[in-house]
Amino acid sequence: NDGGHDAKNLRVKLVLLGDSGVGKSCIVLRFVRGQFDPTSKVTVGASFLSQTIALQDSTTVKFEIWDTAGQERYAALAPLYYRGAAVAVVVYDITSPDSFSKAQYWVKELQKHGSPDIVMALVGNKADLNEKREVAVQDGIDYAEKNRMFFIETSAKTADNINELFEDFVDYATSRLP
Ligand code: GDP
Ligand code: MG
Repeated sequence: NDGGHDAKNLRVKLVLLGDSGVGKSCIVLRFVRGQFDPTSKVTVGASFLSQTIALQDSTTVKFEIWDTAGQERYAALAPLYYRGAAVAVVVYDITSPDSFSKAQYWVKELQKHGSPDIVMALVGNKADLNEKREVAVQDGIDYAEKNRMFFIETSAKTADNINELFEDFVDYATSRLP
């Protein structure tokens, strides 16, 4: 296979999908730069960032991250970014049931039109807003399990589980790739 998960240097093309406003760009910014900017700009079209991490066994993983816009008017462009992606991260906001429905829409879209062996993660972001939670943790877990997805809740604001998302998901993904 390309890049081979048994090699010491992996390259992983990753696409982020999900409703506008769920925190996709903030997750990427937190992961790549260690920052949270509450005034971050709405993504237009899509943006690209890369980040290399070292795993415990000294394997390095270079993530090539496509952060998509999420707005309806860009939906037709999404296949440009998820096609050829080895892994997809579908994000919702735990305070927004609408965004959870939208995440399910993206999962179905990826199942229909993504690479047949794409590995997906379901991410409930804004976990710091637990007092405003409207999507139960168990609902996320159940949906992810049913659809053979990795699941995690994160906060780009507090950094909670952001590194874990990328590190644990790549572990999960490499164990699933052919
Ligand atoms: P995107 O459209 O999915 O890329 O969403 P953005 O990353 O632009 O974030 C949308 C809004 O949610 C911004 O106002 C962020 O400050 C806010 N936001 C993003 N992540 C978090 C988070 O983990 N917790 C909280 N409380 N707000 C967040
Ligand atoms: Mg964005």
